[in-house]
Amino acid sequence: MRAFLTLLARNRLALWGGVVLAGVVLLALITPLLPLAEPDVTDTANRFKAPFSEGALLGTDHLGRDLLSRLLWGTRLSLAVGFAAAMIAATLGAAIGIIAGFYGGRVDNVIMRGVDMLMAFPYILLALAIVAALGPGLLNALIAVAAVNVPFFARNIRGVTVSIAHKEFVDAARLAGMSNARIILFEILPNVLPVIVIAMSTTIGWMILETAGLSFLGLGSQPPQADLGSMLGEARAALITNPHTSIVSGAMILVIVMCINLLGDGVRDALDPRLRSGALSRPVPATAVSREDVPAAKGEALLDVQVLQTQFHVKDRVYRAVGGVDLTVEPGQCLGIIGESGSGKSVTALSVMGLVASPPGVITGGAVRYKGDDLIGAPYEVLRSLRGDRVAYVFQDPLATLHPLYTVGDQLIEAVRVHHRVARAEARARAIELLTSVRIPNAQSRVDSYPHELSGGMRQRVGIAMALANDPEIIIADEPTTALDVTVQAQILSLLDDLRRDRGLAIIFITHDFGVVAQLCDRVAVMYAGRIVEEGPTEAILTSPAHPYTARLMACVPELGQGRRRLEAIAGLPPAVDRLPAGCAFAERCVKAREACRASEIALAGTGARAVRCIDPDVPLAAETVA
Ligand code: ADP
Ligand code: MG
Repeated sequence: MRAFLTLLARNRLALWGGVVLAGVVLLALITPLLPLAEPDVTDTANRFKAPFSEGALLGTDHLGRDLLSRLLWGTRLSLAVGFAAAMIAATLGAAIGIIAGFYGGRVDNVIMRGVDMLMAFPYILLALAIVAALGPGLLNALIAVAAVNVPFFARNIRGVTVSIAHKEFVDAARLAGMSNARIILFEILPNVLPVIVIAMSTTIGWMILETAGLSFLGLGSQPPQADLGSMLGEARAALITNPHTSIVSGAMILVIVMCINLLGDGVRDALDPRLRSGALSRPVPATAVSREDVPAAKGEALLDVQVLQTQFHVKDRVYRAVGGVDLTVEPGQCLGIIGESGSGKSVTALSVMGLVASPPGVITGGAVRYKGDDLIGAPYEVLRSLRGDRVAYVFQDPLATLHPLYTVGDQLIEAVRVHHRVARAEARARAIELLTSVRIPNAQSRVDSYPHELSGGMRQRVGIAMALANDPEIIIADEPTTALDVTVQAQILSLLDDLRRDRGLAIIFITHDFGVVAQLCDRVAVMYAGRIVEEGPTEAILTSPAHPYTARLMACVPELGQGRRRLEAIAGLPPAVDRLPAGCAFAERCVKAREACRASEIALAGTGARAVRCIDPDVPLAAETVA
């Protein structure tokens, strides 16, 4: 609730709308207590008195009635009728929409066709017809306005309900033995409530206008009772001679409807979860950069990440997700990055191409050199030309990265045509070739499949095919096999291995699985709390881990054929990256930790191919390199 109000208050116009509206509503509420003239008492001797005259602040109308009093009483009535109509329409419409969407099938068909029939009439005509049938009167006008707005709510809410009626949490509720009524009340309703409120906040002003319209035509409130529409209708005859009689009620309608709409827009923006998650803040195409000095280039590696630092600045907190990471890859090499969940692997990978979302992400230091050129802070055009063309990504969840409404062929064609001018037919041939190269059987026909028609393993292959679309030099794979079962995982790994041998691809492979690293990677970097704690050739690290963390991480992995042994989970949790300790981040969980570990920062030190960030490594690196 607090968050909602802050968001709402950030929208200046909505805030003003809310404040003015609150004033009007307050006035309407206290109208009976105010020392006003009787609104319906006529006094023809004092017709058409001008505003600001003695005893009548806003003047009088054609029957000499006090306009201020009529205005306030009329506002009270109009607000009440508009609000009541909105409540009725929202409740009825939502109930209809939820039932249609939840039960689906024939129920849905019957209800929605009925709603369609209502929607087929121009709604003002429909409202007029309803009032004509029921007879003029404010209550009937209210019914008419509510009735013509029911279909709008019903359609909106049905759509939302359909999309959540088959979500897993609803299935789970059903499995738990909940009745349909309970599911609707406790599982569906809370999820559609924001949509109902949003729809209401944006239509309530409209309903006040419609009620006023019916009253204006003489079908709503009946004389002598005043509402804003009937006041306007009665003043119409004197529009030219005594315009103040029309202006008073007209201005009030304008103010009310405008305030409600401004406030409604604000409410919608603040409530809509998609907008709340940051869609309203302007998206930046590349991660923001704020770094002081750039490390000098050393060597001409294909990709050289130098002391990369990426942080998330959320309010007054700073999350040091990546705190100075060095990596290099050469063509044909596979570098593994391994570490517990939350150790900064993904953020490191995304920082390479400036893909970390900003805000809140900021690259605060280091360099990412691609063939010697620094990519951090490079113009967006440079990054764009490299992304997907020279450096491609494969992500964990292929279903989330593939567009559900396009065939995989179309998506591959698009991936090719973003970077190369080729004819569609040629791109299609290329798509089939790509699918074949990732060993999708029957590529000719699979190219026209939609993502949901493929199995998880096949979708991941499509993901890899997409990454390969433009013959990249580097593939960054972020846990590409974590969601797959072991046999499919083995196939994907051997596919990647072949690709790098055949095409000389450089692969950065992120995982938390030592088995996968052993199978695929030449070198491996172990990450902990945003830093590399050990790096070296896979063989050497697997046989003799030097950092206590690496050793403990490996002890957590069950080994086949080794008999029963105790798996040792690492006690404790990784430190939160917004409160990193001064010395070694692993000290809290390390059995060997001592005073010096916590005192000051520990450098990544080593000889030859291996390096470790520990003052007391499990194996002395120097001796090993000599041997
Ligand atoms: P993993 O190694 O599992 O891929 P990540 O790289 O995704 O881990 O995350 C590294 C750290 O960055 C985590 O501690 C996470 O809490 C933090 N982090 C990631 N995204 C955000 C964000 N948008 N705001 C704040 N912190 C974030
Ligand atoms: Mg990750």
